[in-house]
Amino acid sequence: MKAIVFEGPNRVSIQEKPIPKLEDGDILIQVDLCGVCASDLAAIRGEVTDYSPPVVLGHEVAGRVVETKHPSVKVGQKVSVNPMITCGDCQYCRADLDKYCQEIVGIGHDIDGGYAEYFKFPRHAIQTSKLITVSDNVSTTDLMFLEPLGCCINAMRETIFNQSVVILGAGQIGLIFTQLVDQLGLQAIVVDPITERREMAERLGAVATFTPKQTEEILEQTNGGADTVISATNNNQTAIGLSFQIVRRGGCLNFFGLSAHDQYLKLNLEQLHFMGHKIMASWAFSRWSLDQAHEMISDQKIKLEPILSNRFPISEGLEAIEQVKKSQGIKTAILGSPNST
Ligand SMILES: [Zn+2]
Ligand SMILES: [Zn+2]
Repeated sequence: MKAIVFEGPNRVSIQEKPIPKLEDGDILIQVDLCGVCASDLAAIRGEVTDYSPPVVLGHEVAGRVVETKHPSVKVGQKVSVNPMITCGDCQYCRADLDKYCQEIVGIGHDIDGGYAEYFKFPRHAIQTSKLITVSDNVSTTDLMFLEPLGCCINAMRETIFNQSVVILGAGQIGLIFTQLVDQLGLQAIVVDPITERREMAERLGAVATFTPKQTEEILEQTNGGADTVISATNNNQTAIGLSFQIVRRGGCLNFFGLSAHDQYLKLNLEQLHFMGHKIMASWAFSRWSLDQAHEMISDQKIKLEPILSNRFPISEGLEAIEQVKKSQGIKTAILGSPNST
C-alpha cells in the first residue's frame, strides 16, 4: 500500500509499505479521507518536536473497518478514531484528560496513521474506548472533521465569553469556531488576510470580517475591544501583538493554535495585573468533546463540507503538503483508498 511517511524535519516521502498485520484484538481500518492538520505541517517544518519519526502521519481519519480480530468490532463499520492512545487508568485518564497521560501514543504522531490506504488500530485503543463508530449516514467529510471539531468544542467549554468574540484565522479551525460562537448567540468577528477565507467566514455566520491590518475597524466593531479573542493561528509575534491590541481590559485571550517551539509570550506583570486579561491556551479534545462532535455531525448541526477545499490521492501527498504550506484553499485532505471521493 502507499503511505506518506514523515522521516524528520523537512523530510517527507511517499512509500510503498506492507498492509499492517493484526495481532489478537487489533483491527484494520481502510482510510477514505484523512485531514492534513496544521500540527502535521508544523512537524514537517521542524517547528514542533513532539512527533516520533519515521511515522505515517494522519490523525483526522474517516474510514471503514476491513479486517477485525476484536470481538466487538465488525467488518464494514464506518469509523473514526480518538487518536490519543493512553493508559486509560492514571488520574488524568480517569478525569477525561487523556492528553496529559504519561503513556500517550498518538496515531499519526508516534505510530502509523491515516495518510495511507490502511492503518492498524490496536487492541488496547479499542479496550480504552478510542474507536469511534458512526452510522452509515454520517458523511465521510463530516466524519473527517470529528477530531478538529472535538478540539474546538473542548476550547469552547474552557474559554470565557461575554458578547464579542474575535477569531484570528479563518482556516478550518477558525471557521469551526465561527459557527460554534454564532450558535451560542455570540458575535463572531473573524480576522484573516485572505479574501476567500473571510467570505467563507461570512457565509458560516461571522457578523463581520477584517484583515489583520484593520485594527481600528476591529476596535470600532467591538466598542473599543473584544470580550474574547481566540487565536486560531500559529501564534507568531504578529498574531500575539494583534491579540493584545484588540482585546478589552478584563477580556479573555485563548491562544488556541499550535505555536512553534521558539515562540514566547513576554508580559509585563504589572500591566497584566491592571489590564486583568485572562490568558489561556486550549489544546486537543477530550472523550466528552469528541462525543459532542459525534452528535453534532450525526445531527448535521454544523457545516463542514464547504470547508474541505482540496483532495489529493496519496501519490500526490507532497503536492498536498505544498498546498497547505501556501494556504491555498482552506482544508486539504488525503484520499486514502483510490475509490474514495
Ligand atoms: Zn488535527
Ligand atoms: Zn493515563
